[in-house]
Amino acid sequence: MCAEKHDHKPNLVLSVLQNKCPRCRRGKLYAESNPYRLGSFMKMNEYCPVCGQATEPETGFYFGTGYVSYALAVALSVSTFVAWWVLAGFSLYDNSLIWWLGLNSVVLVVMQPLLMRLSRSIWLAFFVYYDSDWRTPRPAKA
Ligand SMILES: [Zn+2]
Repeated sequence: MCAEKHDHKPNLVLSVLQNKCPRCRRGKLYAESNPYRLGSFMKMNEYCPVCGQATEPETGFYFGTGYVSYALAVALSVSTFVAWWVLAGFSLYDNSLIWWLGLNSVVLVVMQPLLMRLSRSIWLAFFVYYDSDWRTPRPAKA
């Protein structure tokens, strides 16, 4: 009974959003669970605490997260733009565009720790896939 419960395959999107290891979708990628503890919020576990997957498969692996982070920031900005357009509206005869720019800037700054962590989680999930045999340890990285 318990074995069935532990053998379910966790949802990909939820595991990425929760910053879980993409191989087992159970272990935490980050040593610090609070994204707003600014001194240590990007400190990752070197290996997944559940399956042993290396969280940095090669040196410089996370340079590509800049592209993911950029895409997330654009998507968030488009979302706030549409929300502002629907809720408040834009006009050339007032400062509504300036107010949206200010609000969007604040939202981006406040969300930055979450976006940075999510970018790494998405980037790692591009290259490491779910492994139904995740209990079998992988050889450690060289
Ligand atoms: Zn894992």
